[in-house]
Amino acid sequence: MFAKYPPLGEILITMYGSTPEAYFKVSRVKDGYEKVVNGMELLYKYGINFRVRGVLLAGIEDSGENYIHLQKLIPGFELEMEQAEVMTMRLRHDSKPKNKKIESLRLAPEQYRYRIGERGEGYYELRKEFCSKFIGPGGDKLFTCHAGAGWGAIDPYGKLYPCLILMSPEVKYDLREGSLRDAFENFYPKMRTWEAKDEEFKSTCSNCFLHGLCESCPARSFAEVGHMDRRIDYFCDVAHEEAKGLGLISDNEKAWEVKDWEVRVGRKSTTSDSLIKESR
Ligand code: SF4
Repeated sequence: MFAKYPPLGEILITMYGSTPEAYFKVSRVKDGYEKVVNGMELLYKYGINFRVRGVLLAGIEDSGENYIHLQKLIPGFELEMEQAEVMTMRLRHDSKPKNKKIESLRLAPEQYRYRIGERGEGYYELRKEFCSKFIGPGGDKLFTCHAGAGWGAIDPYGKLYPCLILMSPEVKYDLREGSLRDAFENFYPKMRTWEAKDEEFKSTCSNCFLHGLCESCPARSFAEVGHMDRRIDYFCDVAHEEAKGLGLISDNEKAWEVKDWEVRVGRKSTTSDSLIKESR
């Protein structure tokens, strides 16, 4: 199909293991490894650009070294090993045992800090640049992203949600009883004015300059604990570890207590030596 209708850009393939055994452990798909390798060979044969990403998961021994044999199959084959994005719990917050399983596959927060060093200077500089442009306290507003701002996701039952991963019943809009116009002109604009009610959230996340670097959001908070406005320990720890790796905070600091964050991210200059030494 891609030979007939070439994609406009590069295809990103996520490989769940560098051996059939490791692949099966993660995906539970029989022959999944063989199928994905076959797919890559076809893409190579027809000159379709693609990039392959391996995933690091806790408890799955797979360093990626076994990908070497793929280099023999596909000349120029290169693999980027990345930690999985911080893994999100089941979106509907509906199964404690499955959430436990997801929890067991999450990398320890410190690993996000060490990986910054391992991934080299280029990655470090990119993350620093990202922070200098995009992070900062989000205030009490619940939605600081684009959820429901003119776009959303519709499930097979005709329910509209403001974001593909936000499944809270509070933000569900039934299209069989309303219309897209009403959803985007009335329902979601109102939703986007909601403020966090949780006191701990208001005294931490609302003031935290890691907002933007931190993966926590209403959708992930709902998936984790069934409420959209909670500070989630795991996301918080990951963001703090990354911030330490980027030299933005020191070991004992809490990001919501930092006052000179604009200096630290490089948005304001200062003559004082308040920048934290890099701790990579
Ligand atoms: S780092 Fe912690 S306090 Fe800051 S936004 Fe994330 S969860 Fe909230």
